[in-house]
Amino acid sequence: MGGTFDPIHHGHLVAASEAASRFDLAEVVFVPTGQPWQKADTQVSPAEHRYLMTVVATASNPRFTVSRVDLDRDGPTYTSDTLRDLRALRPDDELYFITGADALAQILSWKDVDELWELAHFIGVTRPGYHLSESGLPQDRVTLQEVPAMAISSSNCRQRVSDGEPVWYLVPDGVVQYINKYELYTDDRE
Ligand code: ATP
Ligand code: MG
Repeated sequence: MGGTFDPIHHGHLVAASEAASRFDLAEVVFVPTGQPWQKADTQVSPAEHRYLMTVVATASNPRFTVSRVDLDRDGPTYTSDTLRDLRALRPDDELYFITGADALAQILSWKDVDELWELAHFIGVTRPGYHLSESGLPQDRVTLQEVPAMAISSSNCRQRVSDGEPVWYLVPDGVVQYINKYELYTDDRE
């Protein structure tokens, strides 16, 4: 599951859990982006903070792990690079790329889009009320997965912290504590 995870929240975790259940996945690898090129115009927290929050949030689940492939590669993050790196590390595994339906809608703007279908099956998880026109996406490689509940977004969590409002129960407890410890999202950035 790729994402900026700035911060990781319970929407991401439920989405991962739902996809793992539906597709009987042995493991969900969370892959925080390096420099997210789609968000180049907005400020993003340092990669190490986003990585560590993801580790904290997933530590208690034996099937959830975190990969540094996008953090350790220089330059902007492209999903084709992510999948190639994961495949090289796990040549025998069948890969599913879990991402939000909003990201999936931009899929045709990705680099090496044709190669993507060879590298993985794509699961587009949807927020409540989100409807995707599926036209143009290969039906045999893409599945939409509705995720129950959770109109939670990282931007809203950041805004809440910035406004002095609580994010308890929107993000895992350890992530609340991590945000407080490093005083993330306290300056007005967006
Ligand atoms: P932002 O608000 O900054 O865009 P985000 O909450 O969308 O952040 P990302 O790290 O960009 O978080 O999310 C990674 C992927 O997870 C995205 O493709 C996004 O659509 C999906 N996602 C985010 N929140 C939810 C949610 N509550 N339920 C299901 N999927 C989600
Ligand atoms: Mg988003």
